[in-house]
Amino acid sequence: MSAYWSDFVKTLDPYVPGEQPKQTDLIKLNTNESPFAPSPAVLDAIRQATADQLRLYPSPESDRLRAAVARYYDLSEDQVFPGNGSDEVLAHLFLGLFRHQGKQILFPDITYSFYPVYCRLYDIDYQNVALADDFSIRLQDYLALPPETVSAVIFPNPNAPTGMAIGRDEIEQLLIQRPQWVVAVDEAYVDFGAQSCVPLIKKYKNLVVLQTLSKSRSLAGLRVGFAFAQPELLEGLVRVKNSFNSYPVDRLAEAGAIAAFEDQSYFEQTTREIVQTREQLSEAMRALGFTVLPSKANFIFVSHSQYDAAQLLASLRSHAILVRHFRHPRIASFLRVTIGTKKQCETLIKSLSEIVS
Ligand SMILES: *Cc1c(COP(=O)(O)O)cnc(C)c1O
Repeated sequence: MSAYWSDFVKTLDPYVPGEQPKQTDLIKLNTNESPFAPSPAVLDAIRQATADQLRLYPSPESDRLRAAVARYYDLSEDQVFPGNGSDEVLAHLFLGLFRHQGKQILFPDITYSFYPVYCRLYDIDYQNVALADDFSIRLQDYLALPPETVSAVIFPNPNAPTGMAIGRDEIEQLLIQRPQWVVAVDEAYVDFGAQSCVPLIKKYKNLVVLQTLSKSRSLAGLRVGFAFAQPELLEGLVRVKNSFNSYPVDRLAEAGAIAAFEDQSYFEQTTREIVQTREQLSEAMRALGFTVLPSKANFIFVSHSQYDAAQLLASLRSHAILVRHFRHPRIASFLRVTIGTKKQCETLIKSLSEIVS
């Protein structure tokens, strides 16, 4: 704490990302990155973009990228809002759409821990809605709250860190029954088996869908994410963006992101492999006595009735394997394990069978 800090900064409680270790020989299953390199076409595109053009500012609204993504999802360009990772897009969403005097936003008690951080940063009142006992999101519990005190709902689908997904039909019911609420669906992990709400964008004025290239497209280091919604709503995000940073997507990121959407076969091959490995790893973990929540993401959420999660985390670390543990009391007995390569997951199972036998 420094006397130079503003009073406001002294009150902040920032997000703590998973460890990015300096040691390079660790099996890193702690931050839901892809174990695969980006598509070779992405690396080529980035290399080409490093030429003379880097002197010049990028397109402020990332026009080429918006056009490519709109084509990919059968949207119009003005339904696509890109940003410097979906975390930045989320920040603009909280400030631009969620900050309403005298109203709250709703999100699950167990979810992405950046949401309460943005609420504090932008002074937004929120209420947590508890997940069901089986850790699923129950949208009827949101509908049971008095609608007039709420401005918006946000949840990831699949949820993090549980990995559990809900169906598009259920979300559509919420959109229909609460047209006065903004419904934001954070689809960071949707490509690993959940139903996307992107096809509903044309139909519902109150829907925002967020996606990222960080997980299913192996580009966490490039920092590109999106919001999809109808133009009138997105214009609110554009206003925030142009009051903060006019050029959030740099030239290398724009070139790489376009190429990522063009290489469909690489995307399908790598996501398919992660889904297969997830199912194999889930089965192997159950055989070792773990409870494994049903995941539609690139991670699994597991607990063991006889072993303390924090101790398992430490034991795995001594086997050079990193996983993630969260302190929230409801999930303190769980570990989140990112799906690695088949070989990494085999090493994990070998280590765990030594630890829990
Ligand atoms: C990883 C993640 C993000 C952030 O993704 P970036 O695009 O890398 O900023 C957003 N939401 C959820 C739920 C995530 O897990």
